[in-house]
Amino acid sequence: MSPSRNNPGQTERARKLFELTYEETNQCIQCGYCLPACPTYQSMGRESASPRGRIALVKMAAEGKLDITRDLAEPIDLCLGCRACETACPVGVPYGHILEETKQVLHESVARDPLNPQQPQHKGRERLKKAVLRHLFPYPKRLRIVGRMVYLYQKSGADRLATGVLPKISEPAARFAAALPRLESPSRRYNPGDVLPPVGPKKARVAFFNGCLMDAVMYRINRLTIELLRAVGCEVVIPETQTCCGALHAHQGMKEAAEQLARANIGAFERSESDFYINNAGGCGAMLIEYDQLLGKDPAWRERARDFVSKSRDISQVLDQFGPLPFKKEWNGTITYQDSCHLRHVQKVTEEPRRLLQSVPGATFVEMADSDRCCGSGGIYNLLHYDESMKILDDKMEKAADTCAETIVTTNPGCLLQMKLGVARKGMSQTRVLHLVEVLAEACGLT
Ligand code: SF4
Ligand code: SF4
Repeated sequence: MSPSRNNPGQTERARKLFELTYEETNQCIQCGYCLPACPTYQSMGRESASPRGRIALVKMAAEGKLDITRDLAEPIDLCLGCRACETACPVGVPYGHILEETKQVLHESVARDPLNPQQPQHKGRERLKKAVLRHLFPYPKRLRIVGRMVYLYQKSGADRLATGVLPKISEPAARFAAALPRLESPSRRYNPGDVLPPVGPKKARVAFFNGCLMDAVMYRINRLTIELLRAVGCEVVIPETQTCCGALHAHQGMKEAAEQLARANIGAFERSESDFYINNAGGCGAMLIEYDQLLGKDPAWRERARDFVSKSRDISQVLDQFGPLPFKKEWNGTITYQDSCHLRHVQKVTEEPRRLLQSVPGATFVEMADSDRCCGSGGIYNLLHYDESMKILDDKMEKAADTCAETIVTTNPGCLLQMKLGVARKGMSQTRVLHLVEVLAEACGLT
């Protein structure tokens, strides 16, 4: 590997990488404690697929010793962003920040560098990805139209007809389309601007974060989340003008777009005048609680972002705090739990979901080996790197099968779809994959 010394763009980008994250790369003492925790290192078995290796490559690129686009893009692209390495690291290397700053520089390189050798082969995919992130995800109304189309597609039976056709177009897309839950009528969902009263005395006023994928195709889970919040005494507001959290944008290096979305959400939630801001998706929640870092250099927004973060909660934290839940039914069977990486490694929420599941009457809770290890979903990693993702998933499903649980529970839409796909791949046709709130709502007779 050698730097492109004749390319001034490379030098400029190395300088930018140096400014953004070089100091952080120097915190790594190369001890390797993070290697056993890293799913990509475990499945690919090479140093460049490990946190230590990636940090070393970023450092060398910042020093101008490597070509950023040629030598750094693939190892960074193959990182799941699960951040298990941060939990494992004894000296607190901020890997997530190093990763996102590097992605930002890479994003600019791919967009601007006419000499980028990766550009021709990835141009179409990159354009499509960025177009979807720019023109679909920030617009909840457009996403709702997509959700309605999926509902009609399923209701008409066209999805069954398409099962033979879709795999010929895209195998991964076909698999994920098959894993999508059956959508309930969109007329049942709550809408931005709604204010829902608590059942019984009011304990708090909370604002609910709809999310993008959750609002488009998993709105039943959002409805059940709101019902559970009301059941434990919360008045629930759904802030108007809220939008996508920006996680997908930040993970793809589109930092400015992520910042714009963060500002829109902070404003929307401030206007709700609520005690807490609740989300039910581990990946979104991780982004929301890092708005203070994202906007930390913006004096006009720094304080407002800190206040937003201080009020943000995962649904499991609030139900655990305001419970007990009004259970009405006995659960029949064994439940196991797969951590959402971003709920565990970024939000550091591990005990509350387990405590809630253990409180379900009649349920037997079994811990899964390596439940803290990523399932291979990684936002849209499973669409972009299908084969690598499936290797990690198949290993996960071995552990899930060992629990003999009839129900696998998780707390993030991406993990939910991935685990559903895993169940299908493993032939575990009797096993249900549910979001935490689906189990709790079912046991409370709210479905
Ligand atoms: S974020 Fe996950 S996949 Fe990426 S280096 Fe860290 S542990 Fe490995
Ligand atoms: S555990 Fe931390 S310090 Fe050790 S190699 Fe990994 S990132 Fe570097």
